[in-house]
Amino acid sequence: MFDALSEKLELAWKKLRGQDKITETNIQEALREVRRALLDADVNLQVVKRFIEEVREAALGSEVIMGVNPDQQFIKIVHDELVKVMGDANVPIAQASTPPTIILMAGLQGSGKTTTCAKLALYLRKQGKKPLMVAGDIYRPAAIDQLKTLGQQIQIPVFDLGKTDPVEIARQGVEAARQQGCDYVILDTAGRLQIDLEMMAELERVKATVQPHEILLVVDAMIGQEAANLTQAFHERLGITGAILTKLDGDTRGGAALSIRQVSGQPIKFIGVGEKVEALDPFYPDRMASRILGMGDILSLVEKAQEEIDLGDAASMAEKMMTAQFDFTDFLKQMRMIKRMGSLGGLLRLMPGMGKISDDQLQKGQDQLARAEAMINSMTPEERKNPDLLARSVSRKRRVANGSGHKLEDVSRLVSDFQRMRDMMRNMGMGGGFPGMGGLGG
Ligand code: GDP
Repeated sequence: MFDALSEKLELAWKKLRGQDKITETNIQEALREVRRALLDADVNLQVVKRFIEEVREAALGSEVIMGVNPDQQFIKIVHDELVKVMGDANVPIAQASTPPTIILMAGLQGSGKTTTCAKLALYLRKQGKKPLMVAGDIYRPAAIDQLKTLGQQIQIPVFDLGKTDPVEIARQGVEAARQQGCDYVILDTAGRLQIDLEMMAELERVKATVQPHEILLVVDAMIGQEAANLTQAFHERLGITGAILTKLDGDTRGGAALSIRQVSGQPIKFIGVGEKVEALDPFYPDRMASRILGMGDILSLVEKAQEEIDLGDAASMAEKMMTAQFDFTDFLKQMRMIKRMGSLGGLLRLMPGMGKISDDQLQKGQDQLARAEAMINSMTPEERKNPDLLARSVSRKRRVANGSGHKLEDVSRLVSDFQRMRDMMRNMGMGGGFPGMGGLGG
């Protein structure tokens, strides 16, 4: 994500590399590259202009920092300005003093509004809240059924009256949430293919009737430049309180993320990063800035890892590795842990320098994991515990190969790779502490 933008920005700092400080002259050219990169990334022109001015001022006013190259310093300045434009910190979802908190979802047809209702409901439930969804998109065929299906999938109730008056649906939906003691009620609303008066009037009526605590504009990141106009139109009529930027997992350019806050003064609260209901992340301006600049996103990575991995599990695994008790069963566990962390692809892309990894390479890695898992599944418990059994016996290896639908040499490679890895761990664990014991154990 944001590959196009970060690649272009790299050019800007390359031009500053090797120079010893930021000056009026050399900044000129770097700024031109930044400007071009942002425009190419479909950032709105007004937003770009203001941004460039702010970066120029900050850069020229900055002190020379010892030991820091001008290109690094410039990256930092651009990073900080990006963070500023996108709103400094994450702004959490509102919470009404008397429940239910009413969230109105607005947006164009196809922006991902209905899907995002379900994602948000699931997110809130994971926070220990009790949400209700209200099917109010009477305009797009099948939207109501779609929400009901999603509701069943995540086991969160959906209120629906069929295709009647959207204001009535919203009113009764909120009432139902109140009666059922829900903390949150999420109102799906009708979108249109483009901004139109009827849609706005309808949303205004819904707003006036239920007085939502949050009006979230759902924006498809792929619309780029258009995000500025869209945000402005909705904000003028409805007074949005925030936005959710969807489809950031695809081959999108960064433009929309920069425009929304600039234009409306309201924060992006979440980002959609996939079609699955789990694919919703809180929006963090500093992390997004790092991503745009191709600095990787270590923070998200660490957080995701913490959330998905049972830390106790990970600690005992580390200990096992160090004491060489690590066997194929542990290896399998470890692979499943990696899987649980979401698609390997998504995670790898978050790591610095990995942004350019190709789909092909990712697929290969994932296929390799799947193959290893199949082979391990065909091993007996003793073989998993004691991989040397396999190393010594061709007939055992052949049995595993046949059982898992692989070739003999695939199994041999897995076993020898595993042994090599285990030896390495053993050496690391024992190194220094117990000299002379390196050769022991089996
Ligand atoms: P609505 O008309 O605004 O209600 O749009 P939908 O919720 O039906 O979404 C339109 C399409 O976008 C569907 O195919 C969704 O699966 C897809 N979609 C929604 N959010 C995301 C996202 O974050 N990433 C990706 N890749 N697809 C998404």
